[in-house]
Amino acid sequence: MLAPWLLSFAEQVFENRKNGRLHHALLFYGTKGVGKAPLSQQISAQLLCSADLYLTPCGNCQSCTLFSAGNHPDLLIIDGAEKSIGVDEVRAITEFINKTSQLKNNKVVRIINAEKMSESAANALLKNLEEPSAKVYLILTSSDISQLSATITSRCTKHRINITDKANAIEWIKSQVNTANYNVTELLALSGDAPYKVIDWAEQGRIELIYQIIEHIKHWLNGSESNEKLLTLLAQLPDGVTILMNQLSLYFYQRLTEQHNQTQELANESCYFESFSSIIEQCLQFVRNEQHAVGLNHNMQLRSLLYKIERTLCRE
Ligand SMILES: [Zn+2]
Repeated sequence: MLAPWLLSFAEQVFENRKNGRLHHALLFYGTKGVGKAPLSQQISAQLLCSADLYLTPCGNCQSCTLFSAGNHPDLLIIDGAEKSIGVDEVRAITEFINKTSQLKNNKVVRIINAEKMSESAANALLKNLEEPSAKVYLILTSSDISQLSATITSRCTKHRINITDKANAIEWIKSQVNTANYNVTELLALSGDAPYKVIDWAEQGRIELIYQIIEHIKHWLNGSESNEKLLTLLAQLPDGVTILMNQLSLYFYQRLTEQHNQTQELANESCYFESFSSIIEQCLQFVRNEQHAVGLNHNMQLRSLLYKIERTLCRE
């Protein structure tokens, strides 16, 4: 069963398909942990299911059985999570598209982390996007659409995946994991409105660590804690920098409000805003490097980020 905020996207795709208007290339983008994976998983299963057209795949046909077993011959999955997607992977896609469907039905290609396609891979994929083959669907997903070339994005139907109703998402999180001791509204905000990230934190037992990190970030921003101490804590959490960005946003917001209350000059505000933008940009760049450059020393990068932020804060 799809999470409630994903359902409307699945319905939209389903309606288009029913009316024969489904585009052959779909791009789902949005923050990591918002649910692009379960959504594209269900849409793929639905496109492959051989039962008559239903929003949810039947779960009983040969296609659905193969799909749940993870070895459907008419489904190709390319994932750029571990390394970038190169020309060889795109060649495999073209080959797959040109083959006859084994179940005499649709074929689906999923490209996960599509922004990890190299420039030459993206160019090689263009032909498949420009000259669609009958009964072949490409489903691309990306957590960082800004890194995906416009030649690709312009040839796909784009869907920005986000939570449309926060209260709804909070209820859903509560139905999935035990969050009795926690403020789920706060956790959802900390995750950047990414419910699956909250689920992940809860399942991995990381929530205590997150609150601990937040306390330490506050001390660090006041100058009462060293970079090294914070670094040790941040390094334990894969999403540590997201939490840091969130706390920095709060910090700048509070500083700006204080200034307003003290009716200081507006000139200071733009100065703060510049520092803020520069720091957030540095954090985003860090997250990108983490995703794109394999083999970087995580701790070294994190240390350098903390020093950069510290320097920017001192310059105000
Ligand atoms: Zn089925």
